[in-house]
Amino acid sequence: MSVRVRFAPSPTGFLHVGGLRTALYNYLFAKAHGGTYLLRIEDTDQERFVEGAVENLLRSLEWAGVQHTEGVMLTEEGHVTESGDKGPYVQSKRLDIYSRHIQSLLDSGHAYPCFCTKERLDALREKERQEKGGSRYDGHCRSLDPEESAARMAAGEPHVIRLKLPAHTDIQFHDLVRGTVTMNTDDLDDQVLIKSDGYPTYHFAVVVDDHLMAISHVIRGEEWLASTPKHVYLYQAMGWEAPTYVHLPNILNIDRKKLSKRQGDVAAEDFRRKGYLPEALVNFLALVGWSPEDNEELFTLADLEQKFSLDRVSKSGGVFDLKKLNWMSAHY
Ligand code: GLU
Ligand code: ZN
Repeated sequence: MSVRVRFAPSPTGFLHVGGLRTALYNYLFAKAHGGTYLLRIEDTDQERFVEGAVENLLRSLEWAGVQHTEGVMLTEEGHVTESGDKGPYVQSKRLDIYSRHIQSLLDSGHAYPCFCTKERLDALREKERQEKGGSRYDGHCRSLDPEESAARMAAGEPHVIRLKLPAHTDIQFHDLVRGTVTMNTDDLDDQVLIKSDGYPTYHFAVVVDDHLMAISHVIRGEEWLASTPKHVYLYQAMGWEAPTYVHLPNILNIDRKKLSKRQGDVAAEDFRRKGYLPEALVNFLALVGWSPEDNEELFTLADLEQKFSLDRVSKSGGVFDLKKLNWMSAHY
């Protein structure tokens, strides 16, 4: 099987150093295996879209030298373009693809339309929060008559499409960093797959796209670990083989809390503006969550392309130690 990996940012702002590290690990893994590393833009949340964010992402990645060979690219004039035959690589241009695939899930009974109003869902959420401290959809629309539902959809009644998860079922997958992960469907919600505006949610689009783009390894931040069982179930429901998962540890502050903007610079661009060399930032980020076999610390990108391996990615969070970055910088 050939290695195909992707970096799939949402264009909601500047490229965060955590995002740059995810891109870097994907890039290095592809390089180490003669594989392909592609860039896909996940812009299905129209409310969070930020004008100019795609261009900023591309420029930051180019500055860092973390270059993909397929997907969304920037022309010399600074326009966004695409290369590769598995595109489009911008999710908002793939709506017809998601429609086709949701239809097959509806037909096979793995998804259902939910006509619940916002008022009903809000009231439900409030009640559940008070009684159980959490909130889940109560399955109100799970057993509606499919023909009647189809007629209501055809008549234009507002609705979302939800995943129909079976009750009391363990979903299991193997993560290269985390080992075997098991979650029971009783702890999961009937995830919305298509929103009322007709756009897919992240969860549906990511599964369809990773499959159609023949992604072999999904390497992404740990914050997505809890969503992965839903994705794994979706692969099963579609009759597709799931990719290998690799969830990277969070990047932490010196006080071991999740790195946040309040405590300093977090955008790759902030470091560029302050005069850091991209080689130093890349060297530094490579070592936040990964360790080489020897005790060396100074690596060029070319060295890293040789040495990087997923089995030396750590389980625990990597610390973003500015002092260390500055020490490294002094060597470039
Ligand atoms: N669009 C998601 C993000 O912004 C990507 C998550 C993934 O890699 O699956 O983080
Ligand atoms: Zn409903």
